[in-house]
Amino acid sequence: MYAILFDIDGTLLQSGGAGCAAFVETFRAVFQLNEFPEGICFAGRSDRAIAQEIMQRSKIEPSPANWQRFFEDYCGRLEKSLKVCEGTVLPGVVELLDALEEDSHTAVGLLTGNTHFGAQAKTGVYGLAGRFAFGGYGDQRTDRNAIAVDARLAAEEYVAAASSNGLLCGAMVIGDTPADVRCGRAIDAFVVAVATGGSSREELADCQPDLLLEDLTDTGDLLAEVSAAQRRCSQLVSQS
Ligand SMILES: [Mg+2]
Repeated sequence: MYAILFDIDGTLLQSGGAGCAAFVETFRAVFQLNEFPEGICFAGRSDRAIAQEIMQRSKIEPSPANWQRFFEDYCGRLEKSLKVCEGTVLPGVVELLDALEEDSHTAVGLLTGNTHFGAQAKTGVYGLAGRFAFGGYGDQRTDRNAIAVDARLAAEEYVAAASSNGLLCGAMVIGDTPADVRCGRAIDAFVVAVATGGSSREELADCQPDLLLEDLTDTGDLLAEVSAAQRRCSQLVSQS
């Protein structure tokens, strides 16, 4: 089987700033932080890394206990924030997921800096619940490349249980930031960059993804690569 690993924010959907708003509100409520540090970059990073940077810049100890305090409050605030912020599923996403779902040789999962809870909440609100069988998340990781390794391992475990030969032949990573491209490289994946998030087409081109798309409406080349990867996969299996 071949694994397709999707980033969430800026790739599958835009949450209308719900995550950022929930971060600001949580820090205000739990840590009495009234002046949220300026210029915090949310794109392409793990929630834990973002929280850690905010803590460091605000003289809050970035300890596991403080992460836990943050996380417990953040979950409820994110759910509320997702209901009031106006976001959208990005163009072509549902059609691509439908096409991949019909393909029994493909395993579809998440590779996201969101926490597991945040990933479920965001995909759930936007009607994408149940579309992803496994994932790598940002709960315990500050390094996106480590999340990619988690996602790849989760894909291997899923495929071992779900497919007849139990073999994962390769992976594709689809994301909207240079960090997605780099983490895809870290696990030897075929990397698709899509310019529907915070990064421009030029910024993404500089990272040299294997495929660069304006959005996910025209996925002919992407699906052709999935088919080619599956052919390589069946050759490998038949030779073994
Ligand atoms: Mg993203």
